Amino acid sequence: MGAGEELETGLSGRKDSSQIENLSRPGSTPPATTIALSAEEQRRYSRHILIPEIGREGQEKLKAARVLCLGAGGLGSPAALYLAAAGVGTIGIVDDDQVALSNLHRQLLHGTADIGRPKTESARDRLREINPHLEVRLHACRFESGNAEEILRDYDLIVDGTDNFATRYLSNDVAVFAGKPNVYGSIFRFDGQTTVFAPHLGGPCYRCLFPEPPPPGSVPSCAEAGVLGVLPGIVGTMQATEALKLILGIGDSLVGRLLHFDALKMKFREFNLRKDPDCPVCGEHPTITRPIDYEMFCQGAPDLTRAVPQIGVRALHERMQSGQPYILLDVREPFEFELARIDGANLIPLGELPQRTSELDRSSEIFVLCHSGMRSERAAEFLRAAGFPRVSNVTGGIDAWSEEVDPNVPRY
Ligand SMILES: [Zn+2]
Repeated sequence: MGAGEELETGLSGRKDSSQIENLSRPGSTPPATTIALSAEEQRRYSRHILIPEIGREGQEKLKAARVLCLGAGGLGSPAALYLAAAGVGTIGIVDDDQVALSNLHRQLLHGTADIGRPKTESARDRLREINPHLEVRLHACRFESGNAEEILRDYDLIVDGTDNFATRYLSNDVAVFAGKPNVYGSIFRFDGQTTVFAPHLGGPCYRCLFPEPPPPGSVPSCAEAGVLGVLPGIVGTMQATEALKLILGIGDSLVGRLLHFDALKMKFREFNLRKDPDCPVCGEHPTITRPIDYEMFCQGAPDLTRAVPQIGVRALHERMQSGQPYILLDVREPFEFELARIDGANLIPLGELPQRTSELDRSSEIFVLCHSGMRSERAAEFLRAAGFPRVSNVTGGIDAWSEEVDPNVPRY
């Protein structure tokens, strides 16, 4: 079926009571379209009901909606708090973690007295306090290949607030399989990004952009990387906004658009994202048709990255100015290259590298670059295995380059 067809039936502003059904593909669990409101609820939501685009019917759609929040952490906190307050009738929370002191500077679902409690229970108590009409369903487990599809079955859309690649790929894949929107958010220090992955509504999925996870053991978590406490508040509330719009069938969603927020500059930038017809999940000939547990793969795999020689950005800068020939190979995605690049770099996205090695001179010294040095390490490992002897990974990637060599290269 054509992507254009799906888009027309999806988000283009139909406001009849069947709108919510358009969130998902025929065949997935059909949600109730609306649930009548009590007198108390009509007063509670009166400032919503006053808005013509929402009204009583919209509020009844929200009550009928079922949102799955992956993670009750930095992004999940504001998302769930606002969705609950806004009157979304059912919120599911998947989290197997306990509240820790270091969570509290950003995870506002939890308080100091909750330290040591399961996050799901702390979240339930807080959400019910905000809205006693809410049905909270707790999934105090990991979101894994064995349970992901079953958990998602009873929800209309995902708000993904996870901070690890295993869950991010899994949530993407099962959302694509089920034809349900996946409202994506990510945060790193002062920078946040959000979009809606929904191939059934005409946009790309996560794998259209990043077909495979980065190499095992090389991904910094939020704990290692650090994050400004308020940042997930901003990104998570944007995710909640997108979820509400999708449920209500109003406005222009972030399907096919990535919104990037820089808290230091207080700037938003927008990038168009394209669906990849060769995507392994949502493409024309999908190769991934069942959920995959990358966690297991990650734990069991050896750390290959140590075998790759590393070069820091300052050393790279000196080397580039030495006059000796070299190839600077950028393996990021085209939209990232548009956003920030180093002069003279050759772009071959990681996913295309296996088919495009003939474009590279085997005798050249090759420096491989990505955003922060993870995908490039994988690419460098691949090239060395493919018979390129002089390959180094640029440690810290273009992000380190912006920070240490050339501040004119935008950070994202
Ligand atoms: Zn895709």
